[in-house]
Amino acid sequence: MPKKIDHIGLAVRNLEEALKFYEETLGIQSTGVEEVEEQKVRIAFLPVGESKIELLESTDPEGPVAKFIESRGEGIQHVAVRVDNIEEKLKEMEEKGVRLIDKTPRYGAGGARIAFLHPKSTFGVLLELCERDE
Ligand code: ZN
Repeated sequence: MPKKIDHIGLAVRNLEEALKFYEETLGIQSTGVEEVEEQKVRIAFLPVGESKIELLESTDPEGPVAKFIESRGEGIQHVAVRVDNIEEKLKEMEEKGVRLIDKTPRYGAGGARIAFLHPKSTFGVLLELCERDE
């Protein structure tokens, strides 16, 4: 069973500008910036209690985050739920007929293992399954 909301992913045009707001104005300290080449993003996590905000800036105009912003503007791009065993969960989802974007887990920022479920199966939200040691 999913344990908690691991993080909420926000697509932003400019990571430094967004960080300025979240860190200086709102007062949440980020854990640093990381580039995830495979997903064509630079990201920063901002821990808030048990969960985090993830800011995502595209490094490529053809990347998924750039395309999201182009069609929907900046804002919530995905919701990530923490699971214990991502392979098991993915298998279970597939058996239940859920449309998967990733059939096998891939690398996620901060050393997580992640996989996305298609919004068509989740009532409109890009849902990320996320497994990490913590
Ligand atoms: Zn994420």
